Amino acid sequence: MSRLDAALQPHYEIVLARNPGEAEFHQAVLEVLESLGPVVRKHPEYVEEAVIERLCEPERQLIFRVPWTDDQGRVQMNRAFRVEFNSALGPYKGGLRFHPSVYLGIVKFLGFEQIFKNALTGMPIGGGKGGSDFDPKGRSDAEIMRFCQSLMTELYRHLGEYTDVPAGDIGVGGREIGYLFGQYKRITNRYESGVLTGKGLSYGGSQVRTEATGYGTVFFTEQMLAATGSSLSGRRVVVSGSGNVAIYAAQKAAALGAHVVACSDSSGYVVDEDGLDIGLLQQVKEVDRARISAYAEQRPKAEFVAGGSVWDVRCEVALPCATQNELDGDAARTLVENGVLAVAEGANMPCTPEATRLFQESKVLFAPGKAANAGGVATSALEMQQNASRDSWSFEHTEERLREIMVGVHERCAAAADEYGTPGNYVAGANISSFLQVADAMLALGVV
Ligand code: GLU
Repeated sequence: MSRLDAALQPHYEIVLARNPGEAEFHQAVLEVLESLGPVVRKHPEYVEEAVIERLCEPERQLIFRVPWTDDQGRVQMNRAFRVEFNSALGPYKGGLRFHPSVYLGIVKFLGFEQIFKNALTGMPIGGGKGGSDFDPKGRSDAEIMRFCQSLMTELYRHLGEYTDVPAGDIGVGGREIGYLFGQYKRITNRYESGVLTGKGLSYGGSQVRTEATGYGTVFFTEQMLAATGSSLSGRRVVVSGSGNVAIYAAQKAAALGAHVVACSDSSGYVVDEDGLDIGLLQQVKEVDRARISAYAEQRPKAEFVAGGSVWDVRCEVALPCATQNELDGDAARTLVENGVLAVAEGANMPCTPEATRLFQESKVLFAPGKAANAGGVATSALEMQQNASRDSWSFEHTEERLREIMVGVHERCAAAADEYGTPGNYVAGANISSFLQVADAMLALGVV
């Protein structure tokens, strides 16, 4: 049953009618609108001036064909998207996802969340997202390069350091950003470093950007635990996924004294009671690009469970870092029965609405992705700062900036939750605080 305020119901129905068949986008919008009842009661101008309708309608949506040639000389064709959602606070900012599941509804959910996430960082960045239904699995480096070059041959005309600044997401890491940047540079004849983030350290990338999303998720978790007089030290932690976010969340949690025992990929999960060996995990997933079972084969005590749910593994802190809607009501019930204390979303919208509700009703500390995983995009903004000033910072300095930003994100969420009568509700706090910032900027900028 929805917790939507009656005054906002018509707005949600408009979104449903205008965007048929985009279930993930509907879910992301509903989750924000459910928090805004007390806000629009206090500030009717947001409804009167159509701020909610405008926020739910992207400023611009691009859909284009990406033809490319595979290693056998066959012509392949994919569809790509860039949704430039909101630029009230800064240039559109958000990653590109390459995954066969990508369609407009996924890109719009991610772009919509990105508006609020980016606002929460306190940095001057608007919200956007893009991607393609291209499946990088099993593709050679040369194929990846040709695909990236073809995609950029269309996308470049919509980008710019003051216009739209993509980065990575699922299926897009340092290798892809390199090929995309190379093609942008070649077409435009401009060394415009700030047009993409997540670049390699040899050509304008920032220290800590690779680690930032995972580290930030753990910094947020630390703050959330500290607010209740607790800490990560000695806690049993499970992460899902084994990509960039999961690996560095596990690494930072372990560095802060937690015992990280499990992670997963789409083939199943691994439990390692000795604590995950992060170096081996990096080798398997980032260097060999292999399945997670290869990790278990190289660790005598680790067990690989094919096809199972990693949330069956008992833990006190759960960090879902894989993908949207990966943790459902059943998984949440298991976690609660097993005594979970805190859940922080390293991925975007990994918990279903039912799972989120269950955690909140069970008084589990719950951090939504737009707050908990904001460290990635925040460090992208730090990369843009370094590019703009033609500077590069040390790892220590950059990590400290990231930590301060995550402390700030936590404070903003906690303060808004308190002010609007839902103390400890980080979902409401994140949505309200970021909505107010974006909505006020939109009002100030007039009807644009
Ligand atoms: N894809 C990441 C996210 O979901 C990072 C975006 C960026 O750095 O622009 O926030």
